[in-house]
Amino acid sequence: MIMTKNNKFYYQCSDCGKEYAADGVKYLCSECAAANTADLPPKGVLKTVFAYDELKKDGLDFAQLKKNDFMALLPVEKRESLPPLKVGKTPLYKINSLENEKLESTLYLKDDSQNPTFSFKDRASYIVSAYAKEHGLQTIVTASTGNAGSSLAGICASQHQKAIILVPESAPLAKLTQIIMYGAQIVPVRGTYDDAFDLSVKATEAYGWYNRNTAFNPLTIEGKKTVSFELFDQLQEQIPDRIFVPVGDGVIISGVYKGFEDLLKLGIIDKMPVIVAVQSEGSDNLVRNLNNDVFEIHPSHTLADSISVDIPRNFYMTRRFLKKYHGETFTVSDDQILEASSVLAKNTGIFSEPAAATAFAGFLAYKNSEKLPAGTKNVVLLTGSGLKDIKTASDHLKMPAAIKPRLSELKNLLG
Ligand SMILES: *Cc1c(COP(=O)(O)O)cnc(C)c1O
Repeated sequence: MIMTKNNKFYYQCSDCGKEYAADGVKYLCSECAAANTADLPPKGVLKTVFAYDELKKDGLDFAQLKKNDFMALLPVEKRESLPPLKVGKTPLYKINSLENEKLESTLYLKDDSQNPTFSFKDRASYIVSAYAKEHGLQTIVTASTGNAGSSLAGICASQHQKAIILVPESAPLAKLTQIIMYGAQIVPVRGTYDDAFDLSVKATEAYGWYNRNTAFNPLTIEGKKTVSFELFDQLQEQIPDRIFVPVGDGVIISGVYKGFEDLLKLGIIDKMPVIVAVQSEGSDNLVRNLNNDVFEIHPSHTLADSISVDIPRNFYMTRRFLKKYHGETFTVSDDQILEASSVLAKNTGIFSEPAAATAFAGFLAYKNSEKLPAGTKNVVLLTGSGLKDIKTASDHLKMPAAIKPRLSELKNLLG
């Protein structure tokens, strides 16, 4: 095990197993990355490994972990390095009925739209920003389809760090607006997310910036895993039976797995929950390729912009997790996503962006296929707020024409 004196963790390549000391900024495994090509998912995403056996020997239990805000399992030395905003600790709502029908299995909604910049991505930016602060890294860059960028911009604003955000010019207006309002340097790129990604990596080398790119910077997964610790806590130290996760690049789902895997390695839990990877039918490159020897890309077309991905950046790690822990997959159509988003909003008061509603659509489809055993505990991860992309929802709504302020016209409108 490669552990330097000051570190509580080291890195291990999720593909070749090579270990790296955590003695400075690390991105991909250098050996695997050398063979990566632009037209296939990258290999060499690093996994962070803690000294589980020693922590176990020290008698670390969940109560202690929680008391210290899970710092023992985070790649950050001091609490003071963490951004002052409230990230995570999001509500878990128990839903008993939908569309006037009592649910036979229990449904919990983990509402991560209640993060400072209104998406799950804040969990990753939180840790990346803290790490940068501890290591004197002043400028953080990221490529983003919108949420990672608006998240990094907001979190950096709270820490007085400089953020540079490369986004495809087609990103939803709300997300672009957030980036500018938070004072980040926005760089709209004429091209796809992949183009922005490649440019950000080149800029990282050229300018020495710290890079937050998802499935490139291993600490994003460490931030995302905190949701699993919270779920375990909110469910009175029990694991749920199923967790429905929306999937694009596969970093959120790997974070969920990593969090529970940390608990498993510490002996705090003795089995893993079943995780259901939900993708849009129009952007299913991750789940469709799970059993393929040769990765086959279908150009993605879905209204769920946050999970519209041609080349899932964390494909290999996600595949390993899904196989090892018997995960499941589901795809839903754009119509199902829109319908789910409306059912969710009307029945629970939570308005989610399409990518987040995708996980809920997966739950509904699963339930309707009658594969969901009665009495099971199911969690749906709601990863982003509907206000981040109102155009998709509003394009499918009928706004009544304005009336004169007269009772007769009101009567007409009410019908
Ligand atoms: C980024 C994102 C996802 C997908 O996460 P991946 O790590 O790319 O799989 C899902 N929902 C929202 C709202 C997101 O911003």
